[in-house]
Amino acid sequence: MSEKKVALITGAGRGIGRAIALTLAEKGFFVVVNYNGSAAKAQETVEIIRQSGGEAVSCACDVSDFNACGEMMAALIKDYGHIDVLVNNAGITRDNLLMKMSEEDFDKVIAVNLKGCFNTIKHLSRQLLKQRSGKIINISSVTGVMGNAGQANYCASKAGIIGLTKSAARELGSRGITVNAVAPGFIETEMTESLSEAVKSALTEQILLKRTGRAEEVAEVVAFLASSAADYMTGQVISVDGGMAV
Ligand code: NAD
Repeated sequence: MSEKKVALITGAGRGIGRAIALTLAEKGFFVVVNYNGSAAKAQETVEIIRQSGGEAVSCACDVSDFNACGEMMAALIKDYGHIDVLVNNAGITRDNLLMKMSEEDFDKVIAVNLKGCFNTIKHLSRQLLKQRSGKIINISSVTGVMGNAGQANYCASKAGIIGLTKSAARELGSRGITVNAVAPGFIETEMTESLSEAVKSALTEQILLKRTGRAEEVAEVVAFLASSAADYMTGQVISVDGGMAV
């Protein structure tokens, strides 16, 4: 049983997920660092939190695996008694033009990015209804609103997250549970580092603030939505994009 509020962040071994984990730990949450690929990176996130006096554990689960998500939630509820915040951050890209995109790459991105959110929300919602409280924050993307050539699978998944967020907000609101989405713009992480300098500068040109964003800048907004300061906000999509999608 945890005395602290418990926050589960999916895909928190690196990038935006790690920044969210560190920020929520700073704000006093007991943090569960979910990962699928690298146990070492997840453990690194946990160690950084512990070294600054916070509490965290890591937890393996492929969010695209429906049954594994059920097992993860059951184990966390058994160990800590409650889950107060769920941040659906895990995501992948498999970019290609529509004409060249394989069925496998389309399905894989939808399975992780969109169905992953369904899997965790579905398996946590009974507990949240029992608690009569909880905050779900789904990481969408500016591309889910605008679309992007070469990312039809990714943009479809991120647009789907917005529909899922609004539907879940409608279903769970009467029990005091809030569901919101954050739509980051162009954030410097390992996901975006493979972009060429030409693509990066073309993208930066579209941003009103004329710079890319930092993972910490997304994390601060997630932390706000996870806090009681956002108790009266639900069903919203908050852009953190330097004015890219104005
Ligand atoms: P990243 O690739 O650094 O991090 C993604 C994390 O998700 C990794 O730790 C990865 O291991 C994990 N993950 C992947 N598949 C998983 C699975 N099946 N189960 C559990 N974990 C899994 O990327 P990032 O830039 O930190 O992105 C984090 C989130 O923010 C993603 O949902 C991404 O789509 C979204 N986003 C990023 C940007 C950006 O510019 N970087 C912009 C908009 C939205």
